[in-house]
Formats: sequence, structure tokens, C-alpha cells
Amino acid sequence: MVKLKREEFNEHIFTRINNLIADYELIEEGELIAVALSGGKDSVLTLHALKNYQKYLDFDLIAISIDEGIEGYRQHGIDSAIANATALDVKLIQKSFISEEGFALDDIYSDFKSACIPCGVFRRNILNKTAYELGAVKIATGHNLDDEIQSFLMSFARGDTIKFSKFGPKLDVIHPKLVPRIKPLWNTPEKEVGMWAVMNDIDIHLDECPYSHLSLRAKIKEFLNLSEDRHPGIKNNIMDSFMKMLTLENDINTTLNECEICKEPTSSNICKACELKQSLKNPEN
Ligand code: SF4
Repeated sequence: MVKLKREEFNEHIFTRINNLIADYELIEEGELIAVALSGGKDSVLTLHALKNYQKYLDFDLIAISIDEGIEGYRQHGIDSAIANATALDVKLIQKSFISEEGFALDDIYSDFKSACIPCGVFRRNILNKTAYELGAVKIATGHNLDDEIQSFLMSFARGDTIKFSKFGPKLDVIHPKLVPRIKPLWNTPEKEVGMWAVMNDIDIHLDECPYSHLSLRAKIKEFLNLSEDRHPGIKNNIMDSFMKMLTLENDINTTLNECEICKEPTSSNICKACELKQSLKNPEN
């Protein structure tokens, strides 16, 4: 009985992901797709779903994990990433802030208002560089429906409308060295991702990042979950409103330059990662 329910649920969740990939043409035949694999439930489901999709389309998969250097937290995620990549026979490339930048997040976070600022900037930067060097044509991230709604509200809260161009399940190629993102879980609610992991007894990293409570995202997430409990359907309504407001054509024009220091793509003259490095007081200490 339990087995049947699990199979039905897997069918439901994988069919929705498969339909999204097909409807939005997230992957094309022969492509090399790099999965950003943190070891958390979303990235692990993304890896399983794309591995499953290889039954229908001939494309290659590789996974990249990045150790930000968060003591007592990140290693569990890396262990889950290794376990899942090994179980699915997907090659895993491991990078870290230390190996790429010479410092751990723990060493530098106090220079910033929130640890999530340097964490996100350096992680995106390392992920893009690694995927580009590997020849991947797209990076698949584990962003789910809840993440997308949170990101949208965060952009509203910050008045950062240029970020609206980053919404939707597929981002366009806007610079030859910027590997575009795809989000196979874009319309999958976070709750269902958790259910999938539990029902299938998947090895995932469940701990909360010790810095997460300081982030704006955590506050918005709490607000949305509370609102959803009191007014069921509110998340879907917000998403529907966003969809009506935006065309998903990414028609906001973003021209990118190459960073004057590291030559990575950036909308300014100097990329965010180099700007942050310049502002670090003393990354070696
Ligand atoms: Fe990085 Fe913030 Fe996520 Fe922690 S919560 S892993 S600091 S982005």
C-alpha cells in the first residue's frame, strides 16, 4: 500500500518536472548539463529528475558541488552530494571557496551585513566558471516554486526590478561566458520536494545553515509559510499574479561586459566577486 502511494507520488512529481522540461525546452539533445548539487533536497531531486529524463532525451549530465567553508554544516551536504552522484553514476566535480578564492566563508562573513551576500556572489561565480570550463551549456539549479516566489518578493522589497529578468524556468544566453540557468523544479512546491525525499528515503542534507536566520529570504519564507497556513492557496495566487505581470521572455535588456580584473561576465566594469574581494579587510585572517 505504502509502496503504491510512493510510486503514485513519484509519478506525479516526475511527470510535472518532465512536462516543464519539455514545454519550456529546458534541455536539448546532445547538451551537457551541469547540476548545481549542494546535497540539499532540491538539488538532489534535480539530479534524480534529470537522470530520469535521460530516458527520454539523449543528453549528458555532470554535477558540481561547492564547499563555501561553513564549519559544522557544509560537509554533511557534500557527503549527500557524493552519495547521490555515486548512486546515479553522475560525475561530481568538487570545488570550494578555499581552493578557488583562498578563504572560507567563515573567515570573511563578518565583513558583510549578511553572510548570504558573499556566499551567493562567490558561489555563483565559482559555479559559472567551473561549468564554463567543463563545457556545460546550461546549469540546472534546484530552485523550486517557493524559492521563486521568495526571490520575486525580495526583488520587490529591494526595488531591484532588473532581477525580474532572472525569473522563469529558463534564462537566456546573454554573454558567451555566462552559462545560462535552468530550473527544472520551477513549478514544484517545496513541500512536495521534502515529501519525495522522505517517501523515497533519499540521502539528503537537512540541516539549516547557521547563517540563514539572518537573511531576508528566511524572513520572507516564514511570512509566506504562515500566510499559506492561514490562507491556503496564497502562494499560487502570488505566482499567478507574477506570471500575469511578466512575460517570461526575459525581455529586460541586460548587456554584459567582461570584468576588468578577472574577465568574468558582469553588468558593471568590475564584477561583484572582485568588488567584494577588494572590500575584504583581510581575507587571510
Ligand atoms: Fe550561504 Fe546564506 Fe545559504 Fe547559508 S543561508 S548557504 S550563508 S546563502
